Amino acid sequence: MTIFIETDLEGISGVSSMDMVANSDRYALERLMADTNAAVRGALDGGADRVLVLDGHGGGHNFIPELLDPRAEVTGIGPVKESDACFVIGAHAMAGTQNAFLDHTQSSVSWHDYRINGRRYGEMGQLAAYAGAYGIPVVMASGDFAACAELREMMGNVETAPVKTAVGRNRAVCLPDGEAEELIYAAARRAVSLARTVRPLRILTPAVVEVEFNRTDYADAAMERRGDLERIAPRTVRRVVNEIREYGDLLI
Ligand SMILES: [Zn+2]
Repeated sequence: MTIFIETDLEGISGVSSMDMVANSDRYALERLMADTNAAVRGALDGGADRVLVLDGHGGGHNFIPELLDPRAEVTGIGPVKESDACFVIGAHAMAGTQNAFLDHTQSSVSWHDYRINGRRYGEMGQLAAYAGAYGIPVVMASGDFAACAELREMMGNVETAPVKTAVGRNRAVCLPDGEAEELIYAAARRAVSLARTVRPLRILTPAVVEVEFNRTDYADAAMERRGDLERIAPRTVRRVVNEIREYGDLLI
């Protein structure tokens, strides 16, 4: 049983302001390691024999390697395919969610909305769609209440560890550090057994992937960057994906 853990920073316990995320605050990164380790411990105690972890926020370089549980293997996104189930630690809700700490999808600067086959998804949805193409479910998330609700709405009765509550978009009220770790550990431990029962997110293909940007010039730039896009509105581009094979197939 292999568990793949994707990590992000916005939904990490104790991270309560935009500054802490933007400045890669040392405490925030220590909390990233603590939450990740709690999930690693939970996965192993729950029956996993291999745990892969991805340093996912802002393209990586957030992990403090000496603080990571040595039983975890740091990996890229591709090995999702080798796993039996995925967790997301430190998740945030999709762009346009109210009372969600730093809600966004990919770029909070340029992306207004993201859809697959007409349905809105966030970053957890992109992971679930990629994993789901290989029959693998996302069975657990930690983050603020909004992120946890988003995963449940998408995947059904999965495990969540809500470690904070957003007050508007830019501030969060957090559980004490130790309580957050216990919550994550317990949810991760229970979630391992869901690998075989939770239905993966299956996207019907060919799939239509759409990004609505915040401004027309972002759409102009996307059109220049790649030749397989169709401009369906001044700010919106889309493309048709025949088969979801790589994570990048879901991006624009
Ligand atoms: Zn992030």
